[in-house]
Amino acid sequence: MNFLETVPTGLLIGGEWREADDASRFVVEDPATGDPLAYVADAGAAEMAAALDEAAKAQEAWAATAPRWRSELLRAAYEEVVRRAEDFALLITLEMGKPLAESRGEVRYGAEFLRWFAEEAVRIGGRWSQSPEGTTRLLTMKEPVGPTLMITPWNFPLAMATRKIAPAIAAGCTMVLKPAEQTPLTSLAFAELLRSVGLPAGVLNVVTTTRAAEAITPLLQDSRLRKLTFTGSTAVGKRLMAQASDQLLRVSMELGGNAPLLVFADANIDRAVEGAMIAKMRNVGQACTAANRLLVHESVAAEFGARFAAAMAAQRMGRGTDPDVQVGPLIDERAREKVARLVSDAAAHGAQVLTGGSVRTGAGYFFEPTVLTEVGDHAITREELFGPVAPISTFVSDDEAVAMANATEYGLASYVFSENMSRILNVVEGLQFGMVGVNQGVVSNAAAPFGGIKHSGFGREGGAEGIEEYLATKYVGIAP
Ligand code: ADP
Repeated sequence: MNFLETVPTGLLIGGEWREADDASRFVVEDPATGDPLAYVADAGAAEMAAALDEAAKAQEAWAATAPRWRSELLRAAYEEVVRRAEDFALLITLEMGKPLAESRGEVRYGAEFLRWFAEEAVRIGGRWSQSPEGTTRLLTMKEPVGPTLMITPWNFPLAMATRKIAPAIAAGCTMVLKPAEQTPLTSLAFAELLRSVGLPAGVLNVVTTTRAAEAITPLLQDSRLRKLTFTGSTAVGKRLMAQASDQLLRVSMELGGNAPLLVFADANIDRAVEGAMIAKMRNVGQACTAANRLLVHESVAAEFGARFAAAMAAQRMGRGTDPDVQVGPLIDERAREKVARLVSDAAAHGAQVLTGGSVRTGAGYFFEPTVLTEVGDHAITREELFGPVAPISTFVSDDEAVAMANATEYGLASYVFSENMSRILNVVEGLQFGMVGVNQGVVSNAAAPFGGIKHSGFGREGGAEGIEEYLATKYVGIAP
């Protein structure tokens, strides 16, 4: 493929592509075949520090650029991603494994952050007020937080990058991006795209590494860094947050989830099955918003379970570049082993397998779409599954459903299927989650504040809230 050969594989530091200091590289592989796709520069702490040098140097001039100019740069990037949507979709499929149709969806979603924050860049406001005693005027204004370290995961290689980069550009922050080692190519191609539409040198630096902790720990001690935004596992997020306390960084954390999907007796079962398929199978379940636990009213559990299992069994599994394929592989062997372990543990504790349940032998990290019933309180309902496995449990009352949904340390996404508005409102108010999808299996939207509570983290990405994460408030007291 020509486009793959044009993707940069070096480090982007100060507007130049360069090698790691010791010229080392690591392999990026196609998870559907295990074949190598590219070899990417493997940086250490010194290159990370060089990237921050450039981000710090560029910050003042970048913050002084006109909002309209930053807005139009984002708009140009949006147009360019849309124009090259097929290239990006193929790249995402190759390095991450999801089917092409889903990759096209991610390109549309990822591009939308560029368009949305192009519109937000020129709406950064402030306030003018009077002190209550009338003696002072209060001017409240917003300024960019400053150089930001962005750490992204592998499951949405484009959207996780644009969701952070676009608001930072809109706000006027410079950046060091460390993409996931499994899927760095999309970020590298996107960084080159930003360069091609005129992003100034040093504003976005991209450093790829297989030694994340070693490369990043010293960076978090550097007083020039002002913000850390992380999307990834709760365990790593907690460690990074502790490290970020040394320099009192502004922190945004988008961590793991254990989303419940509630199907009430009055739900439209067609919509519930369709929504559950999306909430469960988007990205083969490898999303922090993925429905991890299906909680179904006992009166509709048999019907819902049979229809949902039939839909799962009908999914075509294979390499994502094949146009008929609906289910791709998991990201790597470690991910597949975890899913297999959770399923066999549940089966050993009495869970019934309605469909699937096994790894597919041969090349690639495939696991069959799986539906389990009679699942008790085991690891499979407590841990984040990150795979194509749906454990179904039943409930009797609304209160029980909400209590079961909330019985997790996580609080990211949740889903409710019901046709009764007062029930929906009661349940939504009882759910301890940052996001609720009502009669729909997807919550992601560039115009909405994405984020969680509890062990799913804090901070919001997208919506009117998204840009605030990159802005600091300054107030000026003025004697009239
Ligand atoms: P996952 O298990 O889904 O890969 P991780 O939290 O391990 O989630 O990874 C998310 C991102 O965090 C990746 O870019 C990864 O390289 C990075 N990462 C992992 N460990 C560390 C660490 N100790 N310090 C900084 N970044 C890390």
